[in-house]
Order: sequence, then C-alpha cells, then structure tokens
Amino acid sequence: MTSRRPSCPSSLFASDEHSPISILNFNGVGGGTILYAAHFPRLHPSDFRVRSLDGVADDWPIDYSTLEPWYAVNDHHMGVAGLAGDPAYPPHQPPLPPVPLGRLGETMARGFNRLGWHWWPSEIAIATREHEGRAPCINLGTCKIGCAQGARGTVDVTYWPLALRHVEQVTAGLPAVRDGLAGLEADAIARYGSGLAALDHASRSALVDEFAARHPTVLQRLGLETVTCYYQQDGVLERLGLEARPPYPMGHQVPPGDLTLLKPVIARGRIYRDAS
Ligand SMILES: Cc1cc2nc3c(=O)[nH]c(=O)nc-3n(C[C@H](O)[C@H](O)[C@H](O)COP(=O)(O)OP(=O)(O)OC[C@H]3O[C@@H](n4cnc5c(N)ncnc54)[C@H](O)[C@@H]3O)c2cc1C
Repeated sequence: MTSRRPSCPSSLFASDEHSPISILNFNGVGGGTILYAAHFPRLHPSDFRVRSLDGVADDWPIDYSTLEPWYAVNDHHMGVAGLAGDPAYPPHQPPLPPVPLGRLGETMARGFNRLGWHWWPSEIAIATREHEGRAPCINLGTCKIGCAQGARGTVDVTYWPLALRHVEQVTAGLPAVRDGLAGLEADAIARYGSGLAALDHASRSALVDEFAARHPTVLQRLGLETVTCYYQQDGVLERLGLEARPPYPMGHQVPPGDLTLLKPVIARGRIYRDAS
C-alpha cells in the first residue's frame, strides 16, 4: 500500500492509482459506523441455510436461534429502534420505539400497499428516546455526516465508552499492586538475598505482614484480583459444578437455598432500636 498523501506517514492512506474507484478513507473512532446509515436489519432464519434451501453458497455452522440472544444484546448496546411484529422476522422486541414514518414514509407505505408488497418500519440504530446516556434523535437530518446529538448508534458512542469503562474498572489500582509486589520482591532480596518465592514460610510471612501493615489497600486489592482470577479459571468453575463459560448473557441458576436456616435469627427477635 503506498501513501495517497506522500507527506503523511500514516499507513491509513491507501493508493487508488490503479483502481477505477476512489476509496473513501478517514480517521475517526467508530470505524465505518461514523458514516453508516444505521439501518439495522437482522438476517432471516433462512439466510443461515442457503445451501439446503436454495442450493447456493454454504449453510452457516450456526442458526438464527443461536444468534438471537446476541442480536438482542447488540440491539440494546447500539440502541435499536423498531416496531415489534414484522411478519418477515421471528418475533422480537426492539429496545426502543420506532422512528416516525413521516409523510415520506406514509407515501411509500401507501404505494407498497397499492402494489400488495410487504413493508414495515425498518429497525434502525437511532435512539428514539434517551438511551444509555445518549440523547434522543431530534431530526437534525445529518445522519450520514455524523450525529452531533449522539442519537445515532455509532461505535464511538456505544461500545467504545463501554469498553473504556470496562478497562478503567479492570486496571484501576493495578499499577499500585504491580509496584507493591515489586517493592515486596526488592525487600526480600535486600533482607534475605533471594526472591520472596524462595524464602521459607516464616521469613515470607514476616515480610508480607510488614508489607500489609505499610500498604493495607494494596494487599487487599491483590487478594481481590487473585480470588477473582481463581474463580474465573475453567478448572475451578467445573469443579464447582458450573459450566466453564462467560456468565454474560445467559447467567447462571443459583439454588434458592434453605431459608429455614433463618430460624435461629428469627428466634432472637427484634434487634433494631426503637427510635420513637
Ligand atoms: C456510507 C455507509 C453507509 C452504511 N450504512 C450501513 C447501514 O445502514 N447498515 C449497516 O448495517 N451497515 C452499513 N454500513 C456498513 C457498516 O458501517 C460496516 O459494515 C461496519 O461499520 C463494519 O464494522 P467493522 O467493525 O467490521 O469494521 P470498521 O467499522 O471498518 O472498523 C475497523 C476499525 O479498525 C481500524 N483499523 C484498521 N486498521 C487498523 C490498524 N492497523 N490499527 C488500528 N486500527 C485499525 C479502522 O480505523 C476502523 O476504526 C455502511 C457503511 C458506509 C460507509
């Protein structure tokens, strides 16, 4: 790929010297969605079985019902507006109310009806009411050059902030843990001439106790990270009788538990203080 703008060192610029068309290239968080129309149709169940049904291409290795929960998750994150009940698709409820038909839509609808053609307000990733911190569409009419309102579901206002929040949660405090552990290792070497892991139990405990007294929150965080990682290990999950899979979006069944265990608590009677 040669640079279309030789002055720019970025490899994002491609050459269209030998192409009959000029490519549209831009920089911007959100990728193609920055320019997309946000039309959000799902595939039909038959689209997954085109070889079996139509003798073309290949069947997918998964079917619509496998993908359905993920369509729903994605519809939520992107903020899809639509009208439930389209007879062309399996039943599902778009998370947001449909965009208005307007006079143009109504005119097209009358035309389709006259021809006996199927029509339905199409699903579209436009927030028709406030959704996940995004303001509702006010028909600025500039969809395809960017939505100043933030109502159009583009990745810069949907998944990107979600991803950043996740990364912040995961990484907050980690530098302190990393530095703390490095300090602990340095202490071990300075005092005993070898790393923490090589020390006998008593020396190791003494060092860790001193460290805990000096940095209680670092040790607390380290404990949390260790336990969290432990309980995300496939082997541990399986031994606990759980399926080794991500908890989202299917969740897990939690046994209701034996509430008769509360008997001794109840027997102790009221313990809150009278505040009258
Ligand atoms: C005008 C227009 C209208 C459209 N309308 C619709 C529509 O109505 N409905 C619909 O479903 N689809 C529509 N599309 C298509 C849709 O936008 C794309 O299919 C979709 O955005 C593709 O998503 P993606 O994540 O696969 O790739 P992209 O959105 O292309 O994301 C890839 C990202 O990777 C980045 N990247 C590339 N190389 C590197 C690298 N080396 N290092 C770091 N980052 C890199 C790119 O900058 C980009 O941000 C439209 C597209 C356009 C252009």
